Amino acid sequence: MFYKPRVLHRAYAWARGRFWIPCPICKRGFGEHEWHEGHELWLTDRDSVAVCPHCGERATEMNRESGLPGDKPSH
Ligand SMILES: [Zn+2]
Repeated sequence: MFYKPRVLHRAYAWARGRFWIPCPICKRGFGEHEWHEGHELWLTDRDSVAVCPHCGERATEMNRESGLPGDKPSH
């Protein structure tokens, strides 16, 4: 599969006014357009941060370990 350079994703995010943030787990920058619902790491029972597409499963595991509400039943 063709790998798009990070800088292209970044330009895409900027052009559309989307967020571009570093992943809290792997520290890699990623854009809102790459984010999938449910890919978030809960810090408290009210606050969560988005994680990159590569860390979605890891974030789910961490939420389960912490017992915070990221581990919701799927729709
Ligand atoms: Zn990540």
